[in-house]
Amino acid sequence: MVICVKNKKEEEKFVIQVQNITKKYGSFTALDAINFEIKEGEIVGFLGPNGAGKSTTMNIITGFIEPTSGKVIVDGNDVSKKPKKAKQQIGYMPEGVPLYGDLTVKEFVTYMAEIKGVKRKEKKEKVEKILEETGLLDVKNKLTKNLSRGYKQRVSMAGALVGDPKVIILDEPTVGLDPKQVTEIRALIKDLGKNHTVILSSHILSEVSQICNRVIIINKGKIVAVDTPEHLEQKVIKDNSIYVTVEDPENKMLKIKEKLEKVEDIKLISQNEDKTKKYIITAEKDVDLRKSLFETLAKEGITIFEMKKADATLEDAFMQLINKPEEGGKE
Ligand code: ADP
Ligand code: MG
Repeated sequence: MVICVKNKKEEEKFVIQVQNITKKYGSFTALDAINFEIKEGEIVGFLGPNGAGKSTTMNIITGFIEPTSGKVIVDGNDVSKKPKKAKQQIGYMPEGVPLYGDLTVKEFVTYMAEIKGVKRKEKKEKVEKILEETGLLDVKNKLTKNLSRGYKQRVSMAGALVGDPKVIILDEPTVGLDPKQVTEIRALIKDLGKNHTVILSSHILSEVSQICNRVIIINKGKIVAVDTPEHLEQKVIKDNSIYVTVEDPENKMLKIKEKLEKVEDIKLISQNEDKTKKYIITAEKDVDLRKSLFETLAKEGITIFEMKKADATLEDAFMQLINKPEEGGKE
């Protein structure tokens, strides 16, 4: 007799597994051996600055582009070996809302249903259901090219929902929208999250913390953190960093580390138009650097314009994570 014991681990099913994916464009490495997994039902935020590799990753998961090495498994199907099966489980909304402008909203969604092979009998009903889900019933007979940006985004999302995919992938779904539209689209995404696994990319931190259960932070083709928004915020409190904005024409900032006891790292974050520069300075735990910074910088002839302790905001967590020293910067 065989007794089959199912443990908890097995029940927690991964719907997406990204294994050691590397993508090179010539000699440039856009993705450098990234790994992560997504469980069924999660809403995961893919967060990173422009050029981090978010779209490239999404294009690889959806099978639009081939990785240089590594593999992606969607709902148990290797994307390169069983592309059809894998793609069936994914609804993709690419960057920049590509639509066919001369189709009406309903025609577009119907067309998507044809491409995805939705059965003829079910087509009408399914299209109608999606139009309702995405709040498009009122505009279903309008040409997509005449819609506002917010509505175009909805149409593009409707296209992604066709065929009842398990996973919905949305690349920067709120880019270019006005604040009201942003709020509406975010609410729509949360709603979709009730019945789908959702992966969305964004370079807006507050957005991701509002919508997502988990955040994957990517920078320069590498994953720098995978965590819940809450944990990321807590990390900052522990990490103990200070932001300083200075006028430093002789570029002395990076050389003063030796002069400051207990400083672990100094990194340039941004150069402002008024020629001031913003740095993040990380110290050992429980050290308050502000006094010694004030004195040392004054001695070096570096003028402080602003000094601020890093708060426990996701914004700061993000800044710290993507500005960590190369070695040991990964968790
Ligand atoms: P993100 O979506 O995070 O802004 P992308 O994934 O679009 O970033 O791009 C990651 C990096 O790869 C960028 O430096 C980008 O310039 C580069 N890249 C993307 N597509 C190509 C391509 N087809 N050819 C060459 N470089 C590319
Ligand atoms: Mg992108």
